[in-house]
Amino acid sequence: MTHTNNNKNQYKVAIVTGASRGIGAATAKLLGAQGYRVCVNYHKQLEAAKQVVTDIESAGGQAIAIQADVSKEADVVRLFAETKLKLGAVSHLVNNVGILFTQSRLVDLSLARFNTVMNTNVSSCFLCCREAVKTMQAGSAIVNVSSGASKSGAPNEYVDYAASKGAMDSLTKGLSLELAADGIRVNAVRPGFIHTQMHADGGEPNRVERLASQIPLQRGGAPEEVAEAIAWLLSDAASYVTGSFIDLAGGR
Ligand code: NDP
Repeated sequence: MTHTNNNKNQYKVAIVTGASRGIGAATAKLLGAQGYRVCVNYHKQLEAAKQVVTDIESAGGQAIAIQADVSKEADVVRLFAETKLKLGAVSHLVNNVGILFTQSRLVDLSLARFNTVMNTNVSSCFLCCREAVKTMQAGSAIVNVSSGASKSGAPNEYVDYAASKGAMDSLTKGLSLELAADGIRVNAVRPGFIHTQMHADGGEPNRVERLASQIPLQRGGAPEEVAEAIAWLLSDAASYVTGSFIDLAGGR
C-alpha cells in the first residue's frame, strides 16, 4: 500500500528556488513534465527563468516565473502568496538556492562573506520551509538541496559554504521529525561535482573536469541526474522516506 497525497482533487504545486539555471532549472522542467504546476523562482536572470517556463509549457506543462531574493523575508512571503494566487497553495518545495564565492582558506574569509553565504543558503531554506509549512497538508513534501561539502567541510575552498550545507542537513533532520506525524516529508539531496555554472562563481569554471579522475564514477554529474533524485523524494513513490539524504557525488 502506498500512502499518497490526500488532496487527490488538488493539483500538485511546486516552488523550486533558484530555478533559472543549473540543478534548479533541470528540476523545474522535470516536475513540469510530471504534472506539477511549477513556480520557477529566480533572482537576477529573468530571461533564463522565462526560458525555463517556455520549455515547461512547450512540453505541455504549466509554470510561472517569480523573481524573489529568497534570503529576504518579505520576498519569500510574496513568493508564496503570489504562487498561491496564480497556481494554488504550495504542496511541494525544493530549496535549491545555494551560492559560493572564490576558493579561499577560512583565515582569509570576511564576516560579510560568511554572513552572505549563510543568509542565502540557510536563512532562505528556513524562510521557505516556514512559509510552506503554513499551508502544506498530509502528502506534501520538501526537498533541500544540500551538498557533499556538508560532510567534507570543503577545506581550502569554501568552509563557509560547507558550514551552510551542514546547517541545512540539521534543519532537514529536525523539520522532518517535527512534521512526520502530520504526513509531511522532508528530505535532502547532497550533490557533488555537477556540471553547472556555480563553479565559475568559485573561481574555477573547470573544477569538475579537474577532479573527474578522483571521482569513483570517473566523471562529473549532470543537473538532470540530481533532478531525478529530487523528483523521486518529492513523489509518493518515496512515501516512507523522511529525514533522509541521497548522496549524488559519483561515489564520493
Ligand atoms: P547555479 O549557480 O547554477 O544556480 C544558482 C541558482 O540560484 C540561480 O538560478 C540563481 O538565480 C539562484 N539564486 C542565487 N541566489 C539567489 C537568491 N538570493 N534568491 C533566489 N535565487 C537565487 O547553482 P547549481 O545549480 O550548481 O546549484 C544548485 C544547488 O545545488 C545549490 O544549493 C548548490 O549549493 C547545490 N550543489 C551544487 C553542486 C554542483 O556541483 N553544482 C554540488 C553540490 C551542491 P539567478 O541566476 O536568477 O540569479
